[in-house]
Amino acid sequence: MKQFKKIGLLLAAFMLGIFSVWAQKPIKTLVVTGQNNHNWPVSHIAIQKILENSGLFQVDLAISPQKGEDMSAFTPDFSAYQLVVLDYNGDPWPEKTNQAFVEYVKKGGGVVIYHAANNSFPNWKEYNEICALGGWEGRDEKSGPYAYWENNQLKKDMTAGPGGSHGSQREYVLTTRSQGHPVLKGLPEQWMHAQDELYDRMRGPANIGTLMYTAFALKDKGGSGREEPLVFTVDYGKARIFHLMLGHAGETLENNPAMQCTGFQVLLLRGSEWAATGKVTQKVPADFPTATKISYRKDYK
Ligand SMILES: [Zn+2]
Repeated sequence: MKQFKKIGLLLAAFMLGIFSVWAQKPIKTLVVTGQNNHNWPVSHIAIQKILENSGLFQVDLAISPQKGEDMSAFTPDFSAYQLVVLDYNGDPWPEKTNQAFVEYVKKGGGVVIYHAANNSFPNWKEYNEICALGGWEGRDEKSGPYAYWENNQLKKDMTAGPGGSHGSQREYVLTTRSQGHPVLKGLPEQWMHAQDELYDRMRGPANIGTLMYTAFALKDKGGSGREEPLVFTVDYGKARIFHLMLGHAGETLENNPAMQCTGFQVLLLRGSEWAATGKVTQKVPADFPTATKISYRKDYK
């Protein structure tokens, strides 16, 4: 009997040890990429650098076959990760990969939808619910309403028309539309983003949870003339989903202003930590942009 007690105590100590090591471990993250109408060879490296340079994340890559190639062996093990970051816009995944991804999300998995990932898979119902809003690839009123900020609330507009467009790239101000979310805590109500696209006229189920930031798509720059939702969480069961429409990839890692923007990087880091754990332990950095001043972290740290 005594011996059993001893074994029990040893086991408890062992479990505690495992737990404390696990608690300090970086967040196990999978970045899914490999096809995109964007410069994914730049964007996925920038994302990996931003996440890993923070010391909070350990990143693995799932790089798909190239467009038109056999996708049947592309079966990332989502369930092995606390966080999945999607930088993918391309050929359909195999059905079992779709199922594994939906299962991962439904079980409460952490997801970050980054920029053109919301263009992907226009006909995959669950995927569009996981994104809440998407664009291009034939999206129209059948995809769901337009969603934009009007009269101090999120308006859902069923007017017919294509989903997804953007004006010419420029610097623009983001304005917060909610308070109290861990990702937003301590961040300014307005901040100036470096040169980027401003996605507008997006459509989808529009199951936006917390709308964090919008920006105004100027008509004279080819935009919608609306205050567009660009950063938000998605309401989807138990899942924590952070949707970040910012960050159009540049030509090289050195010429990549939208992703070199400190505001983009800090939101990616805070949104990723929240999606993985439900908390944000990061302090607001002193170099965060202000309403009038852009800030860069050109080396992604
Ligand atoms: Zn883009």
